[in-house]
Amino acid sequence: MKIIAIGRNYAEHAHELNNPIPLSPIIFMKPDTAVLKDNKPFYHPEFSTEIHHEIELVLKIAKEGKHIPPQFASNYFDEISIGIDFTARDMQQKCKENAWPWELAKSFDHSAPVGRFIAKTSFPDLHHINFNLDINGHTKQRGDTQNLLFSFENIISFVSKHITLKKGDLIFTGTPQGVGKVNIGDHLEGYLANEKLLDFYIR
Ligand code: MG
Repeated sequence: MKIIAIGRNYAEHAHELNNPIPLSPIIFMKPDTAVLKDNKPFYHPEFSTEIHHEIELVLKIAKEGKHIPPQFASNYFDEISIGIDFTARDMQQKCKENAWPWELAKSFDHSAPVGRFIAKTSFPDLHHINFNLDINGHTKQRGDTQNLLFSFENIISFVSKHITLKKGDLIFTGTPQGVGKVNIGDHLEGYLANEKLLDFYIR
């Protein structure tokens, strides 16, 4: 499986990092070795002093598809959850300054914790779901899918023009505002529509 992630998909987050609003989806990928499941602890890597949390709604692809038109895109994912797109912000800044790819800042081991997946049919309106990240009991990020710049359907259609989607692939759909540094000892709890799906510690 592969992980495809969307950058700058909430305007407020683009603004907080002084980035322009994109005209088409910005995508990058993480390898399968980035996945961290079952609420296992995240071990803070030594190569960065600025690992940022980015809570994101995650789609799980249900079947293979390419060149998927937006009107059929909802048939291609069946479950959703939340995940963290951990980002070594200090390394990403260096990549951006040098016009290098972001891979080292985004694709390291366990940089993609994901929660338990839930059937999308459990939600009355996929275009209006709230999600949030609490750290040590305080809410740090709060998002709502109604504020997505590119909808789930547009993301799937766009990505599948370039890259075949396969069953089991994950799409991280972008983070809302409020990103920040995590520290060893932090307790992260992620909620989708007020249901806790992520609960783990930084070690
Ligand atoms: Mg992200």
